[in-house]
Amino acid sequence: MTTSSAESELPAAERRELLKEVYVQASVCTRCPELAATRKSVVFGAGNANAELMFVGEAPGASEDEQGVPFVGRAGKLLETLLGEIGIERKDVFIANVLKCRPPGNRDPLPVEIENCQGYLRRQVELIQPTVICTLGNFSTKLLRGDPTGITRLHGQPEVLTLGRRAVRLYPIFHPAAALYTPRMLDTLREDFVRLPELLALGAPEQPSLQEIPEIDGTEAGDPPEAPAEAEAESRSVAAGAGRQGGGDVGEPAQASAPDQASAPDQLGLF
Ligand code: URA
Repeated sequence: MTTSSAESELPAAERRELLKEVYVQASVCTRCPELAATRKSVVFGAGNANAELMFVGEAPGASEDEQGVPFVGRAGKLLETLLGEIGIERKDVFIANVLKCRPPGNRDPLPVEIENCQGYLRRQVELIQPTVICTLGNFSTKLLRGDPTGITRLHGQPEVLTLGRRAVRLYPIFHPAAALYTPRMLDTLREDFVRLPELLALGAPEQPSLQEIPEIDGTEAGDPPEAPAEAEAESRSVAAGAGRQGGGDVGEPAQASAPDQASAPDQLGLF
């Protein structure tokens, strides 16, 4: 996969097409043998492929694995409720996870799995170009910050971070699943959520100049792996969308058949 500086200038529709290609690749990924053998779906991510606001959770659970869509269980319902309270609809944001496959028994993601999968997330960020990335809990916060500081210390404190070629506003908050069982954590999560609109209103942070960023050519350590052609026949579909202003969505319930470039738009629920 080649990333050029020109890519950051691409219009939303073209970035969405590239995102669909990443989705097709991810849908047949076998980098983590245990996850590939036990998953029902690859849960790529869902929502507006040109969203200002992106959420990054940990990994799909049982409901997400069934449906191929992130955050459709109880934690997802809470996320939607909190979004509604600040006047944002789920379809306007993009929701993804650190891992695209469910760890069996909902165990924690393993370091090697995070390493294997991070190229997909970084590519999603590059192509969606969100202004604000809200990391939900420890796994996504630690991964994107590249630092082991935990969510209890960091929640509610926005910071500007350069990811790939773009500067984004990173906003770590508690994972909604943790808040389901701890009322005090829910209060804190709600307080942090309430600050999202003002963060979005700041707009994109100052971007690094292209001269400051080395050109990225060829496959990098964090890049998604190339999809093995023979594995495509076994793949399942996901969900995705796009469009800051009617741009488009990614992320509808999973289909039974393998996605291909031609049919990806329908499977991703783009509009
Ligand atoms: N928890 C997550 O981190 N992600 C999901 O998609 C669902 C629950």
